[in-house]
Amino acid sequence: MLKTLRERVAYIRGMEEIANLNYEEPLAKMFFQTLELLEEIVDEVDSLRDRTEENEDFLEALDADLADVEDAVFEDDEDEDSCDCDDPEEFEIQCPHCDRLVTINEDELAEAADDELAIRCPDCGEVIFSDDEEGESEDED
Ligand SMILES: [Zn+2]
Repeated sequence: MLKTLRERVAYIRGMEEIANLNYEEPLAKMFFQTLELLEEIVDEVDSLRDRTEENEDFLEALDADLADVEDAVFEDDEDEDSCDCDDPEEFEIQCPHCDRLVTINEDELAEAADDELAIRCPDCGEVIFSDDEEGESEDED
């Protein structure tokens, strides 16, 4: 079984040499020129295949380099995004007593909800948020 185009054309060339054709005849002349054309095409295809393989290697290397660049460029952003998971989210709550905006993070809010912490306004000292809302005016009374 002949595999490559080059081998198949070489096989035909071998038959042509054995056949001892009379190249004064138009058909034999046409066959000879077609065979030469085939050989040139095979050379061209081989050359194109080599260049395609080189391009594929180059593209693979370029793709790997681009992945490195993407890692380097987007690494910082991803870090900042992932930090959101560690930093407690902050809320602004308006003090019902003096209308001051007080920043509270979600950890403090969770403790307040568990009644472990009463959040007080830094301005007027009143309790802004606690689970026991009835006790909010105890300080003044
Ligand atoms: Zn206040």
